[in-house]
Amino acid sequence: MNVRQAPLCDPLPLRTQPGISSFLDLVDVGQARRLVEQGIRPVPVDWIALSQARGRVLGSPIHADADIVPFARSAMDGYAVRALDVASACGNVALLRVGGDVYAQRGTHGHLAGTATAVATGAPLPCGADAVVPIEAVDRQGDYISITRTVTTGDHIFPPGEDAKKGQLLIAAGQRLHAGSLALLASAGIHRLPVFRRVRVAIVCTGDELVPIETAPAPGQIRNSNGLMLSTLVEECCGDVVQCDVVPDVPTQVTAALRNAFGNADIVITSGGASSGPRDFVKASLESLGTEFLFRSVAMRPGRPMAFGTRHGTIVAVLPGNPAAAFVGFVELVRPALLRLAGLLQTRLACVAAEIREGKAKGKIDRSTFLFASVAFDATKTNPVLTLLANQCSSLTRTAAAANSLVVLPSTSQTYGCGDVVQADILPWAI
Ligand code: AMP
Ligand code: MG
Repeated sequence: MNVRQAPLCDPLPLRTQPGISSFLDLVDVGQARRLVEQGIRPVPVDWIALSQARGRVLGSPIHADADIVPFARSAMDGYAVRALDVASACGNVALLRVGGDVYAQRGTHGHLAGTATAVATGAPLPCGADAVVPIEAVDRQGDYISITRTVTTGDHIFPPGEDAKKGQLLIAAGQRLHAGSLALLASAGIHRLPVFRRVRVAIVCTGDELVPIETAPAPGQIRNSNGLMLSTLVEECCGDVVQCDVVPDVPTQVTAALRNAFGNADIVITSGGASSGPRDFVKASLESLGTEFLFRSVAMRPGRPMAFGTRHGTIVAVLPGNPAAAFVGFVELVRPALLRLAGLLQTRLACVAAEIREGKAKGKIDRSTFLFASVAFDATKTNPVLTLLANQCSSLTRTAAAANSLVVLPSTSQTYGCGDVVQADILPWAI
């Protein structure tokens, strides 16, 4: 059932005509990113309990409706005093009688001028006191304390609104909620809040040769590793996988699976059958369902057959079947789209400039080259360094398993090796 109220994608600013070859059949990575992100609107917002909000994306900004906390508190275990009483003591030692005690508890408490009140960390500052002297800085004998240091008004006191002032922005819309932000909202008394509902994602893997993971493949068959890989990547991007189908390379079955996927999801992701070989039917099937393509291939390696389109406002991302190509295509282009749908403001991977310590690679003049890499910090712990991993072939799964980053070589025919500094996108689970 599709309960979406409005299309998630604005009319596309640039289109290719179905069946007609145009320059938008092939875009560079930068164009592809802009086209993918442009016009995607986040999914609608739901109200949920704060206790359920871990990992969700905040749907509208939340401000403090009162000072947090609204009363002055002691920042230390010690004694509340009037700074003036200490300053006006004769000689170098102020001797004050302990007139009472206040622990971190409810209520307001008095304080007599000329005395000290024992306080615990977090205790409301007794009325009349204006500073706290830490327990370590006093000498207590019976009911008296002596203080030998100078004390200034405000010492060791958290004033009201130290954490946030009434009206102050606590969390902006588009932030993913984590332990720290949940604690802030809890302290502000926000027990229900608006979050973007989770993005529904349908995955369709195509390939006559695919068998389930638990099956021993017959000659010519391979296990469907992309299904699990893409599902895992989707979940990492605030998405819920509502279905993950496997279909053979039969046009009617591919079309039926895609039609069904469009009915269930905010975004459909396909794997395999994306090129122009005799058993590649995904793009033609999408076209037969009325999909409008933003682009049909990207000048990148691996991942060139990647395509993006929309159908009745639902987004479709077409990925090649080669596992490393599907991985790179997802991380670099599908992930930003998914995060934008999920309402996140920050959709790009963290990127570092790192010096190559091991491995070398040659760029290509007509495409961006993505290479699996492992970033580390050198002995001084300041400059990131990286190893370009061996075995960058797009048909492998083991290189992505070993990587924590993707190096992006621009479209030049330059060779990069030891000592060269390159840009690396850090994979989200690597930090
Ligand atoms: P295709 O993109 O369909 O031409 O497939 C390219 C290569 O990727 C072929 O060797 C396929 O066997 C492999 N492949 C396709 N789909 C998957 C999948 N779901 N899991 C693992 N490998 C796949
Ligand atoms: Mg295939």
